[in-house]
Amino acid sequence: MSVTAEYQKKGALYDTLSQSPTMRHFGDINQAGKRMELMFARPEIETPSGLKAASVLTSVYNESKFRTILPKLYTSPIETIFCPDPNQGLYCQLLFGLIQRDEVLRVGSLFASTVLRGIKFLENHWQELSYDIKTGRLSDWITDSGCRNAASLVMKPNPEQADLIENISNCKSWEGIVTKLWPKARYISCVCTGVMRQYIAELEFYCRGLPLVSTFYACSEALCGINLEPLCKPCDVSYTFLPNMAYFEFLPVENDHDESIEMKRNDEDTELVDLVNVKVGQCYELVVSTCAGLYRYKVGDVLMVSGFYNNAPQFQFVERKNVILNVDQEKTSETDLFKAVIEAKALLDPLGFILTEYTSYVDTSSAPGHYVLFWEIKGKEGKHCKELDPKIMVECCTRMEESLHYTYKIYRKRNIIAALETRVVKQGSFEALMDYYVSKGTSLSQYKKPNCIKSEEALKILDSRVIGKYFSPKSPL
Ligand code: AMP
Repeated sequence: MSVTAEYQKKGALYDTLSQSPTMRHFGDINQAGKRMELMFARPEIETPSGLKAASVLTSVYNESKFRTILPKLYTSPIETIFCPDPNQGLYCQLLFGLIQRDEVLRVGSLFASTVLRGIKFLENHWQELSYDIKTGRLSDWITDSGCRNAASLVMKPNPEQADLIENISNCKSWEGIVTKLWPKARYISCVCTGVMRQYIAELEFYCRGLPLVSTFYACSEALCGINLEPLCKPCDVSYTFLPNMAYFEFLPVENDHDESIEMKRNDEDTELVDLVNVKVGQCYELVVSTCAGLYRYKVGDVLMVSGFYNNAPQFQFVERKNVILNVDQEKTSETDLFKAVIEAKALLDPLGFILTEYTSYVDTSSAPGHYVLFWEIKGKEGKHCKELDPKIMVECCTRMEESLHYTYKIYRKRNIIAALETRVVKQGSFEALMDYYVSKGTSLSQYKKPNCIKSEEALKILDSRVIGKYFSPKSPL
């Protein structure tokens, strides 16, 4: 996506507008304290034309305005954001966040998954971090010179702070840990809608007592909407579109299971609807034309109109288009799968187990093909997922099949699709998946775990960590 001066001007305006609702509710945190925000830049590349190319966040972190405000408003020094090794960068950002814990008024990252990654990293490294704070020395494995220089400027032995952090962290349950470690934090800022909604329960556990705020809906292609009700529940968040950010049009989307596949019209036959003409309750695919040169570009997001603010429509994020499991044209969408997983995971919750991550793929290596779900499960309060009764996992498979749509169930009954399989993977498997995508060039800040795996290599990463396989024993109809 080209970035022009006009686009950057819009970016600055968008930034101000998107922050004003949170300021209204939580006060102007810029004046009173700092943000502990996990941020990761990727190296820029130079295109054959000589123009620089970078991920959208990297360009933001490179702007001189951002670099000027960084030390005053954020706990992370610029060197930790640009550290080429994301794990070293993360360690240092947590360290700086802990050192300045009494000043932190907001904790967050762009997406919920990155915040969780940070908390889990902290769970594995808090002893080392508090040791560093106690001695005022940075661990030896942090070899990046930028990070070491930044640390040498602020670190000095602080045994008192280290003891406090150790006492807080050294407890059986990490429920509400963020609130305890950053006692002045007023809210958690990260996108919790769309593919990120699967992390809400776990984030609420760690951040108990603090509101989770999804501030905006934007993509690399265009800046789109802002959340005017920061205090509303993450599952009810709507984004009010800002008509001056891009020219927005909408392609009506029907539910795939409402009509037969043969009857469905092609996108080419469907007329685009203007922003002012969208109807409440209808789902649309977003199409943008921008001042940076995109013309009727399909973003690939499906949104539902939830209401209006004055005349500006408000949208709830529904799903990514085309993220589907498909054995034989039954087309299971991201939302279908999410609903089925929610139903099944309800069986685990009362037993003291949490489903922390999931993804899926269609296995067609044998006929008929079947759905495979990878689940990472965590036991509450020291429980190990090995203690989980296999019968419950089989029941989860059944529950998922029962919760899927009618076409799926009919196909199962007719043996066009074979029994759904759940593969439980060991702790840390999804972190390894994230590491794999980051090693391939994905920015850790903009990483979105795929809900459906297509890459052979990614599949291998999960398959090599499977600790249990379970199948649904009977057809759901
Ligand atoms: P990127 O490619 O990193 O620019 O990510 C843009 C994509 O992230 C969008 O097209 C959406 O699919 C997703 N996204 C961004 N903001 C939100 C949000 N507030 N809620 C749900 N999904 C979002």
